[in-house]
Amino acid sequence: MNIFKRLWRRIFPRRPDLELSFVEGDTPPENLSPGHLVVAKEGDELWAAALLCPCGCGERIELALIDAANTKWHLVSKDRLSPTLHPSVWRKTGCRSHFWVRSGKIVWCAE
Ligand SMILES: [Zn+2]
Repeated sequence: MNIFKRLWRRIFPRRPDLELSFVEGDTPPENLSPGHLVVAKEGDELWAAALLCPCGCGERIELALIDAANTKWHLVSKDRLSPTLHPSVWRKTGCRSHFWVRSGKIVWCAE
């Protein structure tokens, strides 16, 4: 990132769609607030990430981050204001939202 961009970011901080926070333990908290991605961790081990569905339906989405899980997501960027998850999140029930979390932004997948 060049110096001008960096300076611009400092003056006008970008508001992310999702802000990352961590809790100690193996389960994310019951109560989540919109715009937050909460990751449960014990020491260096990341267990699970949770967020409220960004479509606004209010459903809770929980993603396994541990190696033992069959379906597993990677928290590629642990930056507080620009978390990135891989692969995409695709709800198979309810609203069926399909999106990526990239650099703190929700990127919707076209059906
Ligand atoms: Zn939804």
